[in-house]
Amino acid sequence: MIEFSKVTKAYPDGTVAVDRLSLRAPTGKITVLVGPSGCGKTTSMRMINRLIEPTAGTITLGDRPVSDVDAVELRRQIGYVIQNAGLFPHKNVADNVMALPRLLGLGRREARTRALELLGLVGLGPQYADRYPWQLSGGQQQRVGVARALAADPPYLLMDEPFSAVDPVVRGQLQDEFLRLQREIGKTIVLVTHDIDEALKLGDQVAVLREGGRLAQCAAPAELLAQPADAFVAAFVGRDRGYRALGFTGAGDAVRPVDEPSVKLGAARAEAEAAALDGWVLVTDADLRPVGWTAADRLDGDKVTERDLNLSATTARADGTFRELLDAALSSPSGRGVVVDAEGRLAGTVSPRAVAEAIETASAVPAGDPR
Ligand code: ADP
Ligand code: MG
Repeated sequence: MIEFSKVTKAYPDGTVAVDRLSLRAPTGKITVLVGPSGCGKTTSMRMINRLIEPTAGTITLGDRPVSDVDAVELRRQIGYVIQNAGLFPHKNVADNVMALPRLLGLGRREARTRALELLGLVGLGPQYADRYPWQLSGGQQQRVGVARALAADPPYLLMDEPFSAVDPVVRGQLQDEFLRLQREIGKTIVLVTHDIDEALKLGDQVAVLREGGRLAQCAAPAELLAQPADAFVAAFVGRDRGYRALGFTGAGDAVRPVDEPSVKLGAARAEAEAAALDGWVLVTDADLRPVGWTAADRLDGDKVTERDLNLSATTARADGTFRELLDAALSSPSGRGVVVDAEGRLAGTVSPRAVAEAIETASAVPAGDPR
């Protein structure tokens, strides 16, 4: 656990970057600090590993005040990832990853083996080990940065805007991989971002800071959306929060898909026409995985081909979130949302009305955090 207790940082020019911050980052969880630029996120984070010393207050790690711990020993326990990865440009990937353990005396051979292991953990194959940072994409550099932070297997991880410098698609992938990785490694993580969507996606708990380094609210994402503490948090969490909150509520078995006739890709026109409901028929691959909808009376030839497919529909698991189910229903050209099982095979369809009714019923009970 990392605990801030009335921590203040005033810079010599009088700027109060952090103002009496009290906050607890629980063991094995991701705590996200989020807030507008200049609200003291980086300052707060850098006081944990003593790159910055507080003016007042105490930060404890486990049960020791960090001010009592030798800075080198402290940083061995705390991995640190920064925006743009901050890799050494003249070292190859493997040497970047293992820089700290090598400094601490790890042999060359062991370091190499461990580097390859860590690269695998962040989704980079051994072919990257001998490349230099400039030979990698932004997303790959960021992964190397994460591997390096994990090299000494620290229990704590600090991440300052780790995904901000990459494009939205890669950012989404890195976030997903990061969540998967955390399920494996279970570190105690403090992550800083200015992006509220990223905060809500990654955080087990989210601390919203306002200008002047004051804590506005610290809560689980679903609670932040449902009960913003004040107008600042409400505005920062943003519009659509009613809709976005649906992304934190699992449907459980509240939405029951109904059977949907389907045809396989390559099926004859007559078969597709016979299976169509309201003009639309769902097309699957040979394993019954949905591949798209087709308007049965507008087929190009006498068979259903990929050219005939409308690809607008998303799919959802029956036990996915309400947001996924509603999106599947609303994005489907037939008005019937495609529901799949754990293997991605067709389980049936749901109407927007059925999802809305399930949401209404579920909202009648107090919302908990389904994660
Ligand atoms: P964030 O990471 O949330 O964008 P920072 O923690 O970097 O914010 O900065 C918080 C405030 O402290 C800002 O107003 C910033 O200008 C100020 N600040 C940061 N570093 C210094 C410094 N070394 N000297 C004076 N003011 C600083
Ligand atoms: Mg910052």
